[in-house]
Amino acid sequence: MTKRKNVAVIGGGVSGLAAAKAFDERGHRVFGFERSHDFGGVWELSRSYPDVQTQSPKDLYRYTDLAMPGDYPEWPKGTQVHAYLHAYAAKHKLARLFQLNTNVVSMDRRQDGLPGWTLELEAAGNTWTQDFDFVAVCTGQFSDKNILTHPGQDAFTAAGGEVMHSSEYTDPALVRDKNIVVLGGSKSATDIVVNAARNGAKSVTLVYREPVWRVPYYVGGINFKRLLYMRAQEQQFNGWGGTPLGKAMFTAFKPLIWANFRGLETLLKLQLKLKKWDMVPDVPIEKDASCSLPIVTPGLFEGFEDGSIKPIRGTYDRYENGEVVLTNGDRVPCDVSILAVGWKLGVPYLAQEFQDKLIEPDGQYRVYRLAVNPDLPDMGFVGFNSSFCTILSAEMIANWLVRYADGKLAKQPSAEEMKKNIDDMLVWRRTERPAAKVYGGLCSAPFHFRHFDELLSDMGAAKVKRSNPIAEQFSYPDADAYGTFLASAPQYSAG
Ligand SMILES: Cc1cc2nc3c(=O)[nH]c(=O)nc-3n(C[C@H](O)[C@H](O)[C@H](O)COP(=O)(O)OP(=O)(O)OC[C@H]3O[C@@H](n4cnc5c(N)ncnc54)[C@H](O)[C@@H]3O)c2cc1C
Repeated sequence: MTKRKNVAVIGGGVSGLAAAKAFDERGHRVFGFERSHDFGGVWELSRSYPDVQTQSPKDLYRYTDLAMPGDYPEWPKGTQVHAYLHAYAAKHKLARLFQLNTNVVSMDRRQDGLPGWTLELEAAGNTWTQDFDFVAVCTGQFSDKNILTHPGQDAFTAAGGEVMHSSEYTDPALVRDKNIVVLGGSKSATDIVVNAARNGAKSVTLVYREPVWRVPYYVGGINFKRLLYMRAQEQQFNGWGGTPLGKAMFTAFKPLIWANFRGLETLLKLQLKLKKWDMVPDVPIEKDASCSLPIVTPGLFEGFEDGSIKPIRGTYDRYENGEVVLTNGDRVPCDVSILAVGWKLGVPYLAQEFQDKLIEPDGQYRVYRLAVNPDLPDMGFVGFNSSFCTILSAEMIANWLVRYADGKLAKQPSAEEMKKNIDDMLVWRRTERPAAKVYGGLCSAPFHFRHFDELLSDMGAAKVKRSNPIAEQFSYPDADAYGTFLASAPQYSAG
């Protein structure tokens, strides 16, 4: 009989909901803690910038047992994703498991000598501690803002200028008749410049360091999910491990793979007119492809074309006399400076001795299957990894993690096996595939199928692929199919 555990789930975003459902379904007592007043994480309305929409098409951004509503567009808006997450929580009665407005302040091993962790919690000015047998960390990669300051900022704000993080840009009224400068080249930066240009800004400037490959929603008129999200594409990247035969095949097909990626680059250069904007990246696309590869915000290149958005390659040096002075000497008039400079990766509430076991000196994370570390027992991560289909990925890992916690994986790994795998993956990232080092190595793209295959195999699923080999090879990860694969894994109940 599997012992019923008290399980803490930290975070009430996509991943926290997936984890709460997976542990609750197996019969564990789930205690969810979300510091905000609402579920949704990055999709929670007070944190989302206007017009935010998904990068993933809607059938790639969903749980296995709940499709997004048929009347949602192919790339749903933030408000729609938020409503969808609420619908999922309602379907599985997850709200009863969560305490909202409750912050996890610290997390350390239990003082009573039992396995598990003690969380220090804080809500409405009260703090208390609570012991748990297992903790699912679901606080994602977007919880602690990167804060940048530049010389002259105090004088700039004292004179009425505004400086904010991209997540604080929640009201387009803010940009009307103002000179807006956005620093960053990621999707949030491009979303904000397009939104500002459409909402009456006097001028909009995008300041970015280096050009990166960006993928439009439609490549050559075809929805990118039909071109880029398939096993056949994934196998063209140099993945980890592999059999000698697989490696030999990869070498034999190298010229074809090379031609395929050059073709894709040519298409992108022509479609987006990258040369005209001096935005052709130096790095081959196959070397760059990872979770940091942004989707083109609709309206971005059109904004360059009609002059409503001015792209400048460079970075900030200082603020001076109502202007941003760039390192190349350019001066850009500025009333509002929006810093789309991302988030700090980490688990700041975890006791330092465990952070040291989790994070290598070069910032790479030591996590097996992107979920657990053998030196951090009785805990695991859900959604710690970025992905191009994060909801499905979180659900797959949550189902794996509950079995791991219960010792119910068909291939329950020993500490030694996990350590060896982690070390091998670190070597692969550092030497063979540097793009995989992005976000501390916590990115499963473009190897979604490979990652899911491993998780399902560990779980002992009887079915891990669609019966139609053509569909399996040439179409995107199908959430309905993954629902049936998960159901084919051995089931059990705790308690
Ligand atoms: C603008 C934007 C667009 C995106 N589009 C896509 C997309 O199209 N496709 C895709 O796959 N991914 C996309 N992503 C990535 C996105 O982050 C994930 O898809 C997913 O929403 C992450 O969910 P999460 O639950 O793991 O983390 P989060 O959504 O960050 O949720 C973490 C939760 O933990 C809570 N929390 C943090 N610290 C504590 C604490 N100490 N105590 C209690 N609670 C805490 C936070 O309040 C938050 O609610 C996008 C991200 C952004 C920002």
